[in-house]
Order: sequence, then C-alpha cells, then structure tokens
Amino acid sequence: MQAFSTSIIHHRKSWIRGFLLANISAMNKANIDEFFRRLEEEDPDPKGELHYVNPYTLVVAVALSAQATDIGVNKATRPLFEMVTTPQQMLDLGEARLKDYIKTIGLYNSKAKNVIKAAQILVDEFEGVVPETREDLEKLPGVGRKTANVVLNMAFGQPTIAVDTHLFRVGNRTGMAKGKTPLEVENKLLKKIPKHWLLHAHHWLILHGRYICKARKPDCAKCRVEDLCNFKAKAI
Ligand code: SF4
Repeated sequence: MQAFSTSIIHHRKSWIRGFLLANISAMNKANIDEFFRRLEEEDPDPKGELHYVNPYTLVVAVALSAQATDIGVNKATRPLFEMVTTPQQMLDLGEARLKDYIKTIGLYNSKAKNVIKAAQILVDEFEGVVPETREDLEKLPGVGRKTANVVLNMAFGQPTIAVDTHLFRVGNRTGMAKGKTPLEVENKLLKKIPKHWLLHAHHWLILHGRYICKARKPDCAKCRVEDLCNFKAKAI
C-alpha cells in the first residue's frame, strides 16, 4: 500500500513538473541579452571546472567526465596528466596502467578502452594532434557531440554550446530554449543567444545551473536573473 501511494505521489509530482515546464513562455531576445549581461557582470571570464593542460588532455578529461563529477575526474587526472599529455604517451602508458589511474571514475573499464583507441587514431590519422573540426573529433571513440562542442569551445575558441544536464534544465526552465532533446535545446540556444555572448554562454549557463538554478531546488531568492526568468514555480 505504501509503495502504491509513493508511486502515485511520484507520478503526480512528475505530471505537475511536466505541466509547469510545458506552460513556460519563451524568453524574448532583450531578456536573453540582459540575462547574459548580468552573468558576465558577475563573472567576466567564466571557466570550466575540469582540469586539463592542453587540447589532448581536455579531450581525455571530457570523455572521462560522462556520468561523473568534475571533482571526481580531476582527482584521477591530476596525477595522470603529470605523466601523460600526448596520445603517444597514453599509448606508451597502456590500458592496464591507465585503468589504475582512473579506477575511481564510473564506467572506467569502457572509458579506458575508448581513451586508448582514441589515442591510436590520433597517432595514426592526425599525427598526434587533436583535430579542430566536429567531424574529425566525433571519429574518436568516446567523443560524441557534447564532448566535441566542449573541446571546440574551450581548446579552439569556437562559439559552440555543449548541452549537458544543467544547460538542458536551465534552457527549459527559464524559457530561453525549450526543447525535448539536447540537440533541440542546443540549436535554439545557438539561434537565440546574441553572438557577442556565444563564446562564454555555455560556461555561464553550466555555472548558473550548478550553483543557483539547481535541479531539485533552484535558489530563486539568490538568482540575479529572477525577473527575466519565466519559470512558473520559482522558489522565492
Ligand atoms: S529564478 Fe529560479 S528557476 Fe529561474 S533561473 Fe533563477 S534559479 Fe532558475
């Protein structure tokens, strides 16, 4: 009986959540511009929280971060990147020793396999250099659209938007970019964010989602963009 009522409550909560999200109106261009102006005022040069020392170690760190926290990945990669900073050095290290470094990270077995395969492709096909196009990056095992976007943005300064769980939530909640899939949210963000904010938009939105517009309980009372946000169930 208890399990039955818990499941009804859960069902009701997700229905209400879905209803509230579906009824959020789209944020207009002027408000989107002001949203980023305020985030920029607070943090003019936002940075990601993953540790890396060059484009190659960034590819490895982002690939390892799938379904893991940046803090957990950094703990493993700090000593690793003191020894390994190129694809060839990764091949020299080998899969078994790589696993020793990253065994605290979830799914480390399959991630280690992908990192080694990717290092081999980089050595064989790209002379050990990380390519600067999405098409080539996505040829690497363990590198999908989101990882490629992070690398293009952080390593090569391209105005890409990598939609992770934080961007997906903030985009939908605020009305800035409503979409059912990460790709839909990405395309809307690219279209709606003024060009002058695009380079850093991904970091501002991640940090806003991680520390203020949190998944379970958004901190609306502390939010600098509360008056611009169209979320119906603000916690104020
Ligand atoms: S007002 Fe609340 S829901 Fe809206 S962006 Fe701020 S924290 Fe998120």
